[in-house]
Amino acid sequence: MKIKCVLCRRESDRMQRFKMSAEARKLHEDLYPGMSSDKVFAENGLCSDCQDLPAGKRWALAEKALNALTEEYRRELIRERYEKLLNRN
Ligand SMILES: [Zn+2]
Repeated sequence: MKIKCVLCRRESDRMQRFKMSAEARKLHEDLYPGMSSDKVFAENGLCSDCQDLPAGKRWALAEKALNALTEEYRRELIRERYEKLLNRN
């Protein structure tokens, strides 16, 4: 399975996978109910290029990536609700 870098979204062979702590898993489940944290973390990693970035730059990329993910999830929720509404008629 191809792994995508969470920061630059490129696919790479030299990828460090995330290890999720119990606290992080709980936080993820609270933030995104129904979204499998295992799946998200299996498909995402951090490439060596991004790992080598200075911390400030890495945080800026991380913030951008997190906003995009939240936005994507929000859109997905809205889409689901609309589909439910449309199917009711
Ligand atoms: Zn990267």
